[in-house]
Amino acid sequence: MVSYKELGLVNTKEMFAKAVKGGYAIPAFNFNTMEQMQAIVQAAVETKSPVIMQVSKGARNYANATILRYMAQGAVEYAKELGCPNPQIVLHLDHGDTFELCKDCIDMGFSSVMIDGSSLPYEENIALAKKVVDYAHQYDVTVEAELGVLAGVEDEVSSAVSHYTKPEEVIDFSQRTGCDSLAISIGTSHGAYKFTPAQCTRDPKTGKLVPPPLAFDILHEIEKKLPGFPIVLHGSSSVPQDEVDTINKFGGKLPDAVGIPEEQLREASKSAVCKINIDSDSRLAMTAAIRKYLAENPSHFDPRQYLKPARENMKKMYIHKIVNVLGSNDKL
Ligand SMILES: [Zn+2]
Repeated sequence: MVSYKELGLVNTKEMFAKAVKGGYAIPAFNFNTMEQMQAIVQAAVETKSPVIMQVSKGARNYANATILRYMAQGAVEYAKELGCPNPQIVLHLDHGDTFELCKDCIDMGFSSVMIDGSSLPYEENIALAKKVVDYAHQYDVTVEAELGVLAGVEDEVSSAVSHYTKPEEVIDFSQRTGCDSLAISIGTSHGAYKFTPAQCTRDPKTGKLVPPPLAFDILHEIEKKLPGFPIVLHGSSSVPQDEVDTINKFGGKLPDAVGIPEEQLREASKSAVCKINIDSDSRLAMTAAIRKYLAENPSHFDPRQYLKPARENMKKMYIHKIVNVLGSNDKL
């Protein structure tokens, strides 16, 4: 058993309390590769932002769970080396689907876990979340649970339809599970194709899809039921159209990829939403830079040559999110 505290990581408790009070949100960036990890840490240090580095089940399968855990430990040391003596870095399990997986992560040094029982019947979701909370809290590890179902595809998590969170359930759910934060469904969605063209309107000038707005009325109702309780938004990439255009220009094919407009995320950050998950935007930033580099430099084959601009492009995106969308800069 390794405690996250020995690794220099922190749980989400204090940072969420400050974020809810301060009207900003903590970025939760997924990572699978060294370049993503470096870009996340550089962006967080340069902007003096707390950050949640999250690992999905798919990331554990791709990169190996032990390696990712050591990378998070490395991230803390790297942040110090970059001049941040007390970095606020959370290592979080994204979409844990079993008690065993959550326990395994807690035992190996994660400071926060999500138990996603949102596809289960209500009572089973509560029972599973409570079991994880009871174990996690013994070690001061914070737990995110989910109520409501998001549409979209993310690694092994997928659903064809969304079900908005029912505000009338949130008090009972949070009290009976004892969870530290609650992921809700108000119209965000996983992946780079968050909405079908039929769900959107089209901008007459650019021809680009305009997604339906988030259900802020539901968010506000939930806030009223649970004043000051940390709320989490999944599936909150904005799918930047310049990255999509670069990918398509250099041989890619992402027609009608669409995300959540940043103005809406900015508005949500000012509410009890204190954690915003961003994964697809990092994938797009990386792929756009690599496609462009290889198309412009067909004779190059050293991965460092194309991963360097990819890392730079992700870092630029992370900084933009922190400063211009979530407002978590200068909050260390
Ligand atoms: Zn998610």
